[in-house]
Amino acid sequence: MVSRKTVSRMSRYRRLLQSLRESGVESIYSHQLARHAVVSAAQVRRDLMVIGYSGSPNKGYDVGACIDSIGHFLDGTARQEVALVGVGNLGHAVLSHFADKSPSVAIVAAFDVDPELTDTLIHGVRCVDVSLMADLVRDLGIEIAVLTVPGEAAQDAADKLVSAGVKSIISFAPTPLALPNEIFVEYMDITAALESAAYFARLGGREEPAGNGDGDIEPMVKKLESLLARSNMKLEDLATNIGARMVTAGKPGGTTVAKVYAGDRVSDLLNEASDKTLLVSNLASVQMLRVAELMDVPGICFVNGVEPDAEMIQLAEDNDTLLMVSPQGVFETCGLIYQALDTEHT
Ligand code: NAD
Repeated sequence: MVSRKTVSRMSRYRRLLQSLRESGVESIYSHQLARHAVVSAAQVRRDLMVIGYSGSPNKGYDVGACIDSIGHFLDGTARQEVALVGVGNLGHAVLSHFADKSPSVAIVAAFDVDPELTDTLIHGVRCVDVSLMADLVRDLGIEIAVLTVPGEAAQDAADKLVSAGVKSIISFAPTPLALPNEIFVEYMDITAALESAAYFARLGGREEPAGNGDGDIEPMVKKLESLLARSNMKLEDLATNIGARMVTAGKPGGTTVAKVYAGDRVSDLLNEASDKTLLVSNLASVQMLRVAELMDVPGICFVNGVEPDAEMIQLAEDNDTLLMVSPQGVFETCGLIYQALDTEHT
C-alpha cells in the first residue's frame, strides 16, 4: 500500500511526462522532472522506486518507459468505470474535461434529479434519473463516483452509492461525509484552496516549513534543527568533534548537512534521506550505500565501531559519499553531534 500523496504525485508525473513526450522529450533526469512537479529530486527517485520503475537515475529516465511504468501502477489491468452525480455547472465541466481522456478510468453514467436532464447525452455520457442510480451502479459494477450535487444532497447520494458497491468517492460538495472507514473519500475543496492561496499571497507566498506531522515538535528537536540550519561545520570537522574515524572523504571541498537521521531500517532511511542528510546507522551494509547513492546522501556515520567492508568503501568512493565510524552507540553519537553543533554557536 502506498499513501494517497504518492498516488497523486504519480498522476502528476504522468501528466507532466506525457506533455513532455508530446514536445519531443525522450529522456529526463530526476531533478528535471522534480522541477516540473515542484518536488525534490530525491522524492521523484523514491516514488519511481516504489512503483518498481527500473530506469537509471544516472543516465536519465526514458520518458516512454516511465509513463508505461506509472500506467501499470495507477491503472490496473481492467478499465475502471465512474459515475457522476449532479449534472449542474460543475458536473457539466467535469464531464467535458474527461470526455475522451484516460481510457483506463472513464465516466460511464451521470445521474441527476432534474427531469429536464433525464435521458440526455452530455459530452457522450448518458444522464439518468437519480432514482435508478443504485440499481444501475450495482449492475454496472461501478466502484468510483464523483459527487457534484449541492451540499445538502451529498450525504444521501454518498450513502446510496456506497450501498450499491462504490468504494471511492471524489466529492466537490462542501460537506464532510460520514462513511465507513474502508471508503476512500477525496474532497475537492476549491474554496479552501482559494482561501489558502489568498492567505499566502498576503504573506508574500511564504509557508511555514512542515514540522513532524502535528507541528508539535519537541524543543530539543527544534533546537537541533535550528543548529543544523545555522551550522557551517563540514562533515569531516564534525567527525573529528565526535571522535569518529573518517573512512572516505566524500565530496571534494567538503559538505555541510541540514539534517541528521538515525535509523536501521532501509525503508525509514529511504524516507528520511536527502542530499542534505547525514545518516547515522548500525546498518553497515551495501544496502546503506545504495540508499546513499539513490538519494544523493552526502555522509554516513556507522556507529558501535562497525567497519564498512571493501565493497562498501569502493561504492562510497565512487559516489563521493563520506563514511565515518563512531566508536559510540547510536544514542551517544547523536548526543555528541548535538553537542558539537551547540558548541559551534557558543
Ligand atoms: P449546480 O446547482 O449547478 O448543480 C447541482 C446539480 O445537482 C443540479 O443539476 C441538481 O439538479 C443536481 N442535484 C440536486 N440534488 C440532487 C440529488 N439528490 N441527486 C442528484 N442530483 C442532484 O451546482 P454546481 O455549481 O455544479 O456545484 C455542485 C457542487 O459543487 C456544490 O456542492 C457546490 O458547492 C460545489 N462546488 C461548485 C463549484 C463551482 O465552481 N461551480 C466549485 C466548488 C464546489
